[in-house]
Amino acid sequence: MNRKLMLTTALVTVLALLFAGMGESLHTRVRRSSAIPHAVVLIDAGHGGFDGGAVAADGTVEKDINLAMATDLSVVLRLMGYRVLMTRQEDVALCEDPSLSIRENKRADMAERLALYDSADAVISIHQNHFPDTACKGTQLWYSPNNSGSEVLGRYIREAVLRNVQPDNTRELKAGTKDILLLHRTTSPAVLVECGFLSNPQECNNMQTPGYRLQLALAIAEGLLHYQP
Ligand SMILES: [Zn+2]
Repeated sequence: MNRKLMLTTALVTVLALLFAGMGESLHTRVRRSSAIPHAVVLIDAGHGGFDGGAVAADGTVEKDINLAMATDLSVVLRLMGYRVLMTRQEDVALCEDPSLSIRENKRADMAERLALYDSADAVISIHQNHFPDTACKGTQLWYSPNNSGSEVLGRYIREAVLRNVQPDNTRELKAGTKDILLLHRTTSPAVLVECGFLSNPQECNNMQTPGYRLQLALAIAEGLLHYQP
């Protein structure tokens, strides 16, 4: 599906949900908290281009799921009035210079993303998990240790995901270590959402289902709405 069609489909679904009642409390809350949605929210669709990220057993590549999820979330947040920036809107890395090695391109890509992170009021990075045990499942939230707002934002998003989508999820919110370079370095309030495990066939399938992605996007949006930048 091309991007315009994907966006339109997502937009129509969100509007349908808003008016059908599922989004009613969200809609009411948006109207009550008119001070918040002027913030600039950066959505980072993890990986892209030469960097595919994790790969599921069925060949699903993480970068594609990340982009679909980030796009759905961007539609929801824009509807709520947030100013949304995205690190990418198609299957590209932020640096793909053929004269550079993959390692150098990756480093330049990270530097570009970090500059975008540091200029946003809040950052939501979208990734997927992968683990040898295929039974592992559930959204995992990480927060940047450099800005006290990050943990607050992470907690609100985690609570909204549990409340609305995954009531059995027992995964704790964790501080990003230096292995999660962008979280470790950024000074902005930033969280990383590992939406699901691509190694779990059910979650891999869920993440490819527009209705499920939208549920998750609405939950993330609700969490963000509780957060006061
Ligand atoms: Zn990833």
